[in-house]
Amino acid sequence: MFGSTFPSYSLKQIVLDDLLISLGQNRALWAPWTESDGLCRLQFVREGPLPSLASLTFIPLKKLLLPPREAVWAHRAGHFHTVEEPESFAVIGVPLCDLQAIWYLDQVFADDVPYQARRAKSLLVGMTCEPSPDCRCDGHLMPLAGDVFVGKERVWAISSLGDALLREAGLHTPTTDAPLPWPDGPAAQRQNLSEEQFHSALDATVWTVEGKRCLSCGACSVVCPTCYCFDMLDEAALDGTVTRHRVWDNCLFAEHGEAAGGYDFRPGRANRLRFRMEHKFFGFGTLRGQNSCVGCGRCRKACPVDIDLDQIAEQLVAGAAS
Ligand code: SF4
Ligand code: SF4
Repeated sequence: MFGSTFPSYSLKQIVLDDLLISLGQNRALWAPWTESDGLCRLQFVREGPLPSLASLTFIPLKKLLLPPREAVWAHRAGHFHTVEEPESFAVIGVPLCDLQAIWYLDQVFADDVPYQARRAKSLLVGMTCEPSPDCRCDGHLMPLAGDVFVGKERVWAISSLGDALLREAGLHTPTTDAPLPWPDGPAAQRQNLSEEQFHSALDATVWTVEGKRCLSCGACSVVCPTCYCFDMLDEAALDGTVTRHRVWDNCLFAEHGEAAGGYDFRPGRANRLRFRMEHKFFGFGTLRGQNSCVGCGRCRKACPVDIDLDQIAEQLVAGAAS
């Protein structure tokens, strides 16, 4: 399993609330909170209790590192200007699958200045979660990012910053033989679809059926912690300032594959659904071959017509076997 040898400290040495408060010092603090509408969201914490368990937020942590709309630069009076200087922040109560998703985004945006500026200012504190029936996480899928992971009896230092902060908080005598507490069971529900099976079934009936059901609403991609498509928009002001914005885009939207001259790479809903599944299961570019579905289950919950990539994979695997 990736990252199973992080140093860890016994939580008996410290009161958890005191530890969390010390980690959050001098940082804007965010934590998952379920509101009266039943949706769990990342909330800015001003005061009040901090979580002792992780919760899966409806919109994942990516929104703090890759905001839905951000100004990446402005050009004024002949010069380019940086628009935003990110502030230090901490997120407390991140589940293990979301820490994997951040590792994946870290690879994708390794050379991206605004993303990396925010990452450098972030402190990510993972926590044990209670898996739901939709969870299909897998500790073997990819490494995880983050700084500290809080279990029921131990706390792990994921990064050197995390280790330094834990020692500053008074923890001592780490051990390296305690594995991270991945939940039992969820990984067994994943579908083992090979790239060969996927490509040999591009015309399978399941694509026609699911393509007709898909509404192209894009909800699955918005809530996915590893989806990151974006578009660039330039805005010119009357004083001559031009500001370039990066905004979330969505590969399920009808215009996503449109190109100059009226050509459309993915004109149908089935094309777009298949494209997203290929990206999730088999990756792109230097990450080709890396499954980027961390099994959080958000897309299944968010889809208004219950489209489930694992059920599609199951049908493709069954078709390949018949
Ligand atoms: S594809 Fe669905 S289950 Fe997989 S990481 Fe994205 S939202 Fe989670
Ligand atoms: S959430 Fe469901 S209906 Fe909407 S684009 Fe995704 S698969 Fe299609």
